[in-house]
This record gives sequence, C-alpha cells and structure tokens, in this order.
Amino acid sequence: MPLDVRLATSMAEAAGILASDQRTRLLSGGTLVMRDVNEGRFLDGTLLRLTDPAYRQMNTSGARVELGAGLTMAMVFNNHDLSFLQPVARAVGGPAIRHMATIGGNLFAETPYGDFAVALLALDAQVMVQSGYGSARAVAIEEFLNARERGVSGLVTAVQFEKPRNAADFKFRKVSRVKPKGISVMSIAAHLPNSGGRISQARVAYGAMAPTPVRARGVERALEGKSLDATAIQAAKAAALEGTRPATDAIATEWYRREVLPVHLGRLLTGEGR
Ligand SMILES: Cc1cc2nc3c(=O)[nH]c(=O)nc-3n(C[C@H](O)[C@H](O)[C@H](O)COP(=O)(O)OP(=O)(O)OC[C@H]3O[C@@H](n4cnc5c(N)ncnc54)[C@H](O)[C@@H]3O)c2cc1C
Repeated sequence: MPLDVRLATSMAEAAGILASDQRTRLLSGGTLVMRDVNEGRFLDGTLLRLTDPAYRQMNTSGARVELGAGLTMAMVFNNHDLSFLQPVARAVGGPAIRHMATIGGNLFAETPYGDFAVALLALDAQVMVQSGYGSARAVAIEEFLNARERGVSGLVTAVQFEKPRNAADFKFRKVSRVKPKGISVMSIAAHLPNSGGRISQARVAYGAMAPTPVRARGVERALEGKSLDATAIQAAKAAALEGTRPATDAIATEWYRREVLPVHLGRLLTGEGR
C-alpha cells in the first residue's frame, strides 16, 4: 500500500485517528518522520497533519507554563518569558531544524536526540496525552518516557511545568563533538531551587546516557539540602553514573560517555566554560 496523507483539524480527531490505526504517524515538524519516508523506512502507512491552532498555543506569562506540542524550538527561543530555555532550544540542530522541530517530536526522538525532553524532565513537566476522542490527561514526564520505551503512546497535545522562580536555578549543557550544531555526546539539565542558600528538591536529568532521558537520582540526593559548594559538587560527581545505561553509537562509545559524564556534570554545576 502506498503512503497516504490525512489532515485532522482538531486534536480529538487526530488522537482518534492515531488510536484507530497503528500505521499512522503524526507529522509534527517532520524532521525525523520525513527522514524515515525519504530513506525508505516508512513507506507503507499514513502521515497525519494536524492544523488545530491549539497545537501551537503557548501560555507563558504566569508561574505555570503551558506549551502546545506543535511549538517549534525557534518559537520557544523567541519567547522572552522562556529565556531560561533558550540554551536548550538553541542546542537542537541548526537554524533550519529549529524552525521545524517541535516539542512533541522531541519527546519521541530516540537517543542521542531528545535534548529538549531532557530539560522537560529536569523541570518535572507534565505531558498532556490524548489517547482517543476523550480529553487529554496529564502524565508525569518520567512515566511518559517509560511508556514510550514500551511503545505505548498517544497524541501529545501540550506540556506543562512550573517556571523556575530564579532563572539561574535552571542549568543546561549539551556536549557535542561538532560545534555549534552537533548531535549530543550527552546533555545535562538541572533544576536546583535554592531555599536559604540550600538546594531544595533538586532535579537533574541526562540525555544520551540511557535509552530515554533519565533522572540522575544519585546526583539529586548528593545535592539535596546542600549549598552548591566544592564539597557538594564533588559528591555529585561521585554519584554521577548511578542509573545510567549509555549506548555506543556513531557519536561516542558507552565507555567514553561514562568517562566524561562526571567532568561535564562538574562543569555544569560550577558554571565553568559557559
Ligand atoms: C539534521 C538533524 C539534526 C538534529 N539535531 C538534533 C539535536 O541537536 N537535538 C535533538 O534533540 N534533536 C535533533 N534532531 C532530531 C529532531 O529534529 C528533533 O528531536 C525534533 O524536535 C523532532 O521533532 P519533529 O516535530 O520534527 O518530529 P517529527 O519528525 O514530526 O516526529 C517524530 C516522531 O514523533 C511522533 N510525534 C511527533 N509529535 C507528536 C505528538 N505531538 N504526539 C504523538 N506523536 C508525535 C511522530 O509521529 C514521529 O514518529 C535532529 C534531526 C536532524 C534531521
């Protein structure tokens, strides 16, 4: 059967089509799905376009941010309320990719891609998932990523998260061999809220250190309740590898990823080499 193209004008319609036909894939920005088409990996099925304006809506002025899954990296980059996310949006591909690549697509991008999803994991985002014609439900991003690994998904309509109270509490670093737009050796995001000079409810996430973005729980424990000084950073580096399962790919070996992770985590935490 040849490749078919369908159009959905509402989120509910798109979610219904995706739920009823396993061979349908949403064409969001298309940077990955069209590569599969052009390189012959997706030739038999349906590409679904979604034109609902709500898919690209953003609500960024308050403490809680809601971003439609159809927003591109360039749109995030250009929003002044989201300046803390600029380093993340800028880290995804070159300018042409950033004008097409969406938040929704990044949540499905396989490792070593998924830099924006790493930031969302550190921000403890909720992923709004619509599985049929009903309404969307909020799924914690960690649960969403685990379900994605098992092949369970639906239509992602939006993501929501609390804006960091202080932009400096959010840190992001992408390590790549090719500058400025290489693919990740790894990416690291940290949200380290500060209360009275001590870190409270630290969340740290890695990209390209496991099959999906993962929390760095050992690092979070090492930093919790501490001030961000040399002793705490040393303890965080010592715990850096806990829970990681990096792969060997065209970018780096799993050995190399393990070797350099503590070094880059230390640089992220000290702000070195920004
Ligand atoms: C040259 C190049 C460089 C790149 N560099 C980077 C990089 O540096 N960092 C990085 O993270 N990524 C990178 N990518 C990967 C990719 O561009 C991004 O991850 C992008 O965010 C994917 O979004 P998209 O909208 O283009 O996805 P699409 O190609 O539209 O979709 C990807 C997959 O996700 C599914 N999907 C998309 N949106 C939804 C949704 N809302 N609900 C349900 N399913 C959905 C699609 O059906 C498809 O299976 C690069 C890609 C290329 C080609």
